[in-house]
Amino acid sequence: MAEPELDLSKKYDAVIIGSGAAGGMAAHVLTSHGLQVLLLEAGKKLDIEQELRSMEWPYDNAHRGGLPPGSHALNHNEYTIRRPPYGPGFEKSKNLYSYVGNSDYLKNIVVNERDNPYTGTNYAWVRARCLGGKTNIWGRLALRLSDYDFKAKDRDGYGENWPVSYSDIAPYYDKVDLYLGITGVKENLPYLPDSLFQRPTKLSCAEVTLKQGIQKMGRVLTQYRAGVTTDGLKHNKYRSRCYGRGACSRKGGCDIHAAFDSPTGLIYPAMDTGNLTLRTNSVAREITVDRQTGKASGVHFTDSETMKDYTVRGKAVIVAASTLESARLLLLSKSRLYPNGLANSSGHVGHNFCEHIMGPHVVGQATDLVGKPPTLDDGRPGSFYLTRFRNLAEKQAKFIRGYGFEGGSGSSMFPPGTDSPGFGASFKEEIRRNQGSYIAMGAFGEVLSRYENFVDLDPLVKDKWGIPALRFHYKFGDNEHHMAADMKETAQEMFEAAGFKIIFVSDRVLTEGWSIHELGTARMGDDPKTSVLNQFQQSHDVKNLFVVDGSAFVNASCQNPTWTIMALCWRSCDYLADQLAKNDL
Ligand SMILES: Cc1cc2nc3c(=O)[nH]c(=O)nc-3n(C[C@H](O)[C@H](O)[C@H](O)COP(=O)(O)OP(=O)(O)OC[C@H]3O[C@@H](n4cnc5c(N)ncnc54)[C@H](O)[C@@H]3O)c2cc1C
Ligand code: SF4
Repeated sequence: MAEPELDLSKKYDAVIIGSGAAGGMAAHVLTSHGLQVLLLEAGKKLDIEQELRSMEWPYDNAHRGGLPPGSHALNHNEYTIRRPPYGPGFEKSKNLYSYVGNSDYLKNIVVNERDNPYTGTNYAWVRARCLGGKTNIWGRLALRLSDYDFKAKDRDGYGENWPVSYSDIAPYYDKVDLYLGITGVKENLPYLPDSLFQRPTKLSCAEVTLKQGIQKMGRVLTQYRAGVTTDGLKHNKYRSRCYGRGACSRKGGCDIHAAFDSPTGLIYPAMDTGNLTLRTNSVAREITVDRQTGKASGVHFTDSETMKDYTVRGKAVIVAASTLESARLLLLSKSRLYPNGLANSSGHVGHNFCEHIMGPHVVGQATDLVGKPPTLDDGRPGSFYLTRFRNLAEKQAKFIRGYGFEGGSGSSMFPPGTDSPGFGASFKEEIRRNQGSYIAMGAFGEVLSRYENFVDLDPLVKDKWGIPALRFHYKFGDNEHHMAADMKETAQEMFEAAGFKIIFVSDRVLTEGWSIHELGTARMGDDPKTSVLNQFQQSHDVKNLFVVDGSAFVNASCQNPTWTIMALCWRSCDYLADQLAKNDL
């Protein structure tokens, strides 16, 4: 693979900040247009196969897959009771991780919270600072949005419509599907458009029962739409087809890259064009500006290891550091011309921050499966998705927008129930008898985009590189709490309709941030007074500046965002390349 060196004397056609879903896609699209692109990534390039070790057995790991001594991953209470991770009580842990980092396989992928502090209201902020960012460990659920989301204001009067419709984005969703691969089953639902699916996975017995049980309620359960290639991709030599090892569900990540990740799916192929220069360990701290033209001139970054500072130049700058880091970077890029931060004449950078609420869930048992022989159910890259049904044809009195459920069931390598009391032969027999009969699901709901939910820069706290930390001013509102109460009710109602024995049902809402679907801090719109970007994710204020990650979202929808991030980014980068060719940036 060609790896050109950084050239400080060169003016690149485009400098991209961040190498996750958004930055990787920008690199792919722009290099395929023949542009000379520099990609800056704050984290390391890890030997990712060695980190993930997808097929390692627990007994081959010194800590059975857990964290080594001296390391600690925050639990739910620690996010809510203490001021994580700076309060007393954590002194013994040299390495502190977000709740996702609770595993030997992920400890080098997620950030050490001590080096990367943040302040303000409770928020479980999960970050992956390494080549590929969070795509190395994402949950793979790859859903499309529809005009029920893009034009949600037309339906309920709340918030703003997106400056794009489904018909604008649909061709780009198709391109993403074909280039990266996705598995699923067509359902012809107007509110959850189908993708161009590869071979689907199979539902387990209890999942089929649930699917049939809720049909009479007009509700839909479908196979997990995973951003995974089940048929293989002839055009990509870095990725294998899925062998159904289920390791991605058990541990996170896929070391043969059947599950999409940005390095093997996008960045390595972009490097093969010879048009991409990748520089890892490069922490962008400011987007520089040409005082004469007011345009972005390049990026000032610090080498994360040597602490040396550099400035690189580009005809266009593309911010793709993930929703919250991108907002931070725009706010950090203050100058005489832009005293409130770059692209922020509207005052909306950092605001309208939204995501998904989660927590309410149900656990049930298909009693007819007790004592049945085991089936192979966890060799799948995902189980099922139960689609949105609220506020489509009907209107709920207490809340607007909707939610969907992710769930799973069936026989698995590590069956449920092993943590229940008991020991010896009778205990083992009991676990075996019940193993394939449990089923569970939890909801993900839209958090409304509100101006008063925002992030800004902390005036005192700085990260390891001396860069001001992000401060959160964010909490769920009444709409989310009413929705959460409804999630619990409907979860139970559907399990009962399917004839399952209810084992446990909860309406506990998890801390803000738990969904890892942060969105909306530099939203798109037609009006520069109330939005940061236009429909091509181009700054209204600074023509050659683009923000191509989840920051651009106008609302969160309840569908997972990554496939939409990449479809929008592809469309914006096609536009950028066209504008650059016309010398119009
Ligand atoms: C456990 C888990 C499960 C998930 N499950 C799903 C799912 O099922 N479906 C779904 O749609 N989404 C899921 N997500 C979310 C998904 O991973 C994100 O939506 C996606 O990765 C966002 O892409 P991004 O490029 O915006 O950000 P990232 O992937 O986070 O990439 C951002 C990159 O920018 C780099 N960066 C940050 N700051 C700087 C800086 N100052 N200078 C240089 N580089 C910088 C970071 O190091 C990182 O590599 C999940 C995430 C996690 C962690
Ligand atoms: S099930 Fe498929 S995507 Fe998941 S780890 Fe196995 S091969 Fe990779």
